[in-house]
Amino acid sequence: MPRYSTLDQLQLKVLTKAAGLLTATPNQRAVFDQFVITVTAVADIGPHLRRVTFHAPEFAGYRVTGPDECFGLLVPPPGRPLTMPSEDRVNVRTAIRALPAADQPDLRWYTVRAHRPEAAEIDVDFVLHGDAGPGTRWASRAGAGASVGFRAGNSGYRPPSTGSVLLVADETALPALCAIVEAGVPAGTRIFAEVPTEDFHVDVDAAVTWLHRGTDAPGSHVLRAVTDLPGPTPAYAWVCGESSLATAVRRHLVKDRGLDRRSVMFSGYWKVGAART
Ligand SMILES: Cc1cc2nc3c(=O)[nH]c(=O)nc-3n(C[C@H](O)[C@H](O)[C@H](O)COP(=O)(O)OP(=O)(O)OC[C@H]3O[C@@H](n4cnc5c(N)ncnc54)[C@H](O)[C@@H]3O)c2cc1C
Repeated sequence: MPRYSTLDQLQLKVLTKAAGLLTATPNQRAVFDQFVITVTAVADIGPHLRRVTFHAPEFAGYRVTGPDECFGLLVPPPGRPLTMPSEDRVNVRTAIRALPAADQPDLRWYTVRAHRPEAAEIDVDFVLHGDAGPGTRWASRAGAGASVGFRAGNSGYRPPSTGSVLLVADETALPALCAIVEAGVPAGTRIFAEVPTEDFHVDVDAAVTWLHRGTDAPGSHVLRAVTDLPGPTPAYAWVCGESSLATAVRRHLVKDRGLDRRSVMFSGYWKVGAART
């Protein structure tokens, strides 16, 4: 069990409070568990999507905070064994930076697509985008027996008990969107998914408006669709995907439609041309 210093606990409180002024309050956790996880299965579930199943004894007692639970994947440097950062720091990046440079794992964030405590397993759906970063590179080569680090995260989906809901996702947020839908969304929830092409589609157990952006900028198609959406402003929106997609849709909802910024959960899951560390 990690032991956080008073300063770290204070930092967590301040960050949580500051975030609460800008966005809908996420589901928080007090302790960010950290452990080694091992690949037990790999399956391609689409031309660009790979499902990796991980086992760790700790998953038997693990509790997700919500359906779109994320975690930090700690990937060892090429050709090096995995060195886990200290779990006694609230900020995992600070803990990574304290390690010798050659041992520092890369950190990338992914969604717990499914958690099976009885099997002590999780599934993670990786969008494969070539060799451009350590996350996709690792997932492209992952095989049974490979080990990486797991750093617990939190979740963002937290709609009010009444009122309409809008969900907007790109391909990287589809695992979270699917998990949210499976957990149950209010009747009439509007769902938009903007993906590059049709072969990024996944099965979602709900009516989804699919948009194909091709080579256009992420967010350009879904922003138009949300702007054209008739009817009253939703009571709550969850908007996740490429950074400009998330910020543009959020800006429209807040500035043009008057939705309270604390009623919009938004997150830039990745950024064109930049690593998402
Ligand atoms: C809370 C959260 C949950 C997430 N859940 C998932 C998930 O379940 N599945 C998933 O696949 N991703 C998920 N992501 C997104 C993922 O963390 C980013 O795509 C991340 O950039 C991947 O790391 P990388 O090492 O592959 O690329 P990076 O090193 O971060 O980036 C290298 C280059 O690749 C580009 N790039 C990054 N991602 C993509 C992409 N998807 N398509 C095209 N170009 C890209 C960048 O613009 C950059 O130029 C999530 C992110 C967050 C914050």
